[in-house]
Amino acid sequence: MRKRLLMMGMVILAIVMALGAVSAYADESSPTLVLDGQKLETPDPPVIRSGRTLLPAKVLFESMGGTVEWNGDLRQTTITLGDTSVQLTIDSTTALVNGQEKTLDVPATIINSRTYIPVNFAATQLGCQVLWNAVDRVVTVNSPKKAVNITRIETTETGNTLRVLLESDGVIENYKVVSLENPDRVVVDVTGAKMEFNGGVAGGLGISNEIFSNVRFSQFDQNTVRAVVDLLVQQAPQVYLSQDKKSIYMDFVITGRGSQGADSEDGSGIIPPAGDDELTALGLPRLDWRMQGKLIVIDPGHGGTDSGSLGYENGSIVLMEKEINLKVALRLNELLQMAGATTHMTRTADSSVGLYERPEIANGLSAALFVSCHNNSNESTAPTGTEVHYAVKQSESSHGFTSKAIAESVMDELEASMGLKRRGAKNSPAYAVLRCTEMPAIIIEGAFISNPSDLKYMMSDSYAEDYAIGAARGIIKALNAAAGN
Ligand SMILES: [Zn+2]
Repeated sequence: MRKRLLMMGMVILAIVMALGAVSAYADESSPTLVLDGQKLETPDPPVIRSGRTLLPAKVLFESMGGTVEWNGDLRQTTITLGDTSVQLTIDSTTALVNGQEKTLDVPATIINSRTYIPVNFAATQLGCQVLWNAVDRVVTVNSPKKAVNITRIETTETGNTLRVLLESDGVIENYKVVSLENPDRVVVDVTGAKMEFNGGVAGGLGISNEIFSNVRFSQFDQNTVRAVVDLLVQQAPQVYLSQDKKSIYMDFVITGRGSQGADSEDGSGIIPPAGDDELTALGLPRLDWRMQGKLIVIDPGHGGTDSGSLGYENGSIVLMEKEINLKVALRLNELLQMAGATTHMTRTADSSVGLYERPEIANGLSAALFVSCHNNSNESTAPTGTEVHYAVKQSESSHGFTSKAIAESVMDELEASMGLKRRGAKNSPAYAVLRCTEMPAIIIEGAFISNPSDLKYMMSDSYAEDYAIGAARGIIKALNAAAGN
């Protein structure tokens, strides 16, 4: 066993040495340095030695607000950032991090009378994130995340909107809101946060009204501030970040008062939740109350100058994809609202919306789900049927449900309601709206406008209804399954 480990070690060492040799000689182009998403120009370009990127420390760390000092007598560079200092000695594999000895594999060195330091070691020790893209030869350094302080928690009332707000002194990067039963409550966790409000002492606002009996708060753990809204009624708030991303708003609606706070600026209006009979008649489940505050962005594909794919009969255009997409999306919006969902449409008329504008709208509204309604096309008239696209992505993990789960449920229900060929739920990370949205997202391709039989169906009265009903059922079933998890 030991022998095998030793041999494996030697093999790995040989590979590392070979890589080192390759990079030392094959290193024609200098890597690009990116700091917090921006390309950083250094007076002397970074170099690669023994597979490690070295660069002059000054520009990088001073750009982050740190200091870099050089001691010529001791041949030492000391980099300080926040509470941490890293001391590197030229040609020594021993470094001091806050006075403690650490070993590094490639030492700092002098090239053309400039001090070059191993960026990965130094930046990581200073709390930065360092990423290396070998294909594009890009070193990405992200500054250490500073904890934000929660400075204010309060409630306000405007018209029929009751708002609970948490304010911080910095950009809130990470937060999660879940509604829970027994007892009914809304829990807000802000990670990377310290509670400054109330002197950091846990407590409650002691405010009660028609919706909740108290708002409690505490430093839940080292890194997390938690607020809990104790509910008197089963209502999930609509949750979003302020424009500057320093505040979290949770808006509750006080029913029985004239609607005033509700936004209908997009012209789609707000449809009141339907009665049980109406939903039963449509075969539509009611959305679980814990999912009702989560914003669903509905995106009718194409529009305005972009007509999408075209449907032809006898050589003339009989249907534009943008038209049928809008018809479907408007009906889907109605059905979801009737079932209790909170929605927003990227367009409600025949208007142009940029491809990258669509995910931006959803991200800007802190939406929980993005649904893009499209129809398919092919150069051949043969392909037919329905498919749903999703992308597996890191950013969706905090939502309690995945793009894949939504896509599969929608595929099932569309197959049932439309009865076309099942082409399946497909992982398609290449699509911009799937890739650029931070929340679970799907693209539905209802039918093929290029297929004569599909086209005939698309031009019938039942098509938009069947499409919208199937999509709504699929979305609601998947969200209900995820409620409370
Ligand atoms: Zn399309």
